[in-house]
Amino acid sequence: MSREDLDKAVHLLWDGRLVAFPTETVYGLGADATNPEAVARIFQAKGRPATNPVIVHVAGIEQARRYTTDWSRNAQWLAEIFWPGPLTIVVPRAPAIAPAVSAGLDTVGLRAPRHALTLELLRLFDGAVAAPSANRSNRISPTTAQHVLEELGDRVDLILDGGQCDIGIESTVITLCTPVPTVLRPGDVELDQLRAVLGRVDVHPRFIEQETPASSPGQHPLHYAPQTSCFRYEADEYPHVVQYLAEHATSPIIMLALNARMLASPKHRVVGMPNHPPSYARHLYCALREADASGTSAILIEMPPDEPEWFAIRDRLTRATVRL
Ligand code: AMP
Ligand code: MG
Repeated sequence: MSREDLDKAVHLLWDGRLVAFPTETVYGLGADATNPEAVARIFQAKGRPATNPVIVHVAGIEQARRYTTDWSRNAQWLAEIFWPGPLTIVVPRAPAIAPAVSAGLDTVGLRAPRHALTLELLRLFDGAVAAPSANRSNRISPTTAQHVLEELGDRVDLILDGGQCDIGIESTVITLCTPVPTVLRPGDVELDQLRAVLGRVDVHPRFIEQETPASSPGQHPLHYAPQTSCFRYEADEYPHVVQYLAEHATSPIIMLALNARMLASPKHRVVGMPNHPPSYARHLYCALREADASGTSAILIEMPPDEPEWFAIRDRLTRATVRL
């Protein structure tokens, strides 16, 4: 990545155009967050519903303070400890941020990403860059520049290639705009780390509620999802899998599994997933994309253990699948 590319990216952003850039979580589709027309282009390119707020990326604390009306002590602590890094902090929105960025809410999610190239871009731009993941709405987030190209093609004015994303799943989102700070989306920064800084931290009820029972892929509020039918199972539900495979012996099926399995049909294939949360997260979206592109009739995914270090990964898998 040359200096010229960076300069070009900065000028495109100033001109209200779209620039895709790498971060440590996933690739982002960026536009000037203070320019309503530029922000509208993001929603258009992704086919994103206007009700889904977009995260705003900044170079650091100094810039963040410009885009909120209340940079609290808690915000300062979190940013000092976790930025640049995979933590989005939701605070009251300053009028400079286009309302569409926040889907009309009076809050804004701010984050300084931990990627040298993109931090340099944000420093040069010296503003606020609204950037959701650089994929079509409800599809798998991109973790390489090639994925962005496949997802968005010429809907984006420039793609900065910063290699494969280090973390591989989206940031943790915490809001400081509720009486008790609340995690809205789990990610690489874990609940215990946040509690160590803030004391009490709640988790949005969505993650605590009983799982909804099995439904067909079309009916489920799928997100981060491949286009192929995608089913999940817990490790102790393997008998269901055996039955499913027997019923579909002649269909190509791919399983993403932590545990090696013997398979009866040559049509079926097991892709081993790393038994280590950071490695699993880094590989997950690539593995899903490859399985999706392989022409398989179904993807079966073994859920990792229901333990805190797997919390964010289980969340993404739950949203990408229905129960077998
Ligand atoms: P994405 O940009 O695709 O990674 O998704 C952004 C997500 O961040 C949204 O779906 C929300 O969960 C969260 N988010 C961003 N901004 C806000 C906000 N102002 N209030 C609440 N949640 C937000
Ligand atoms: Mg997204």
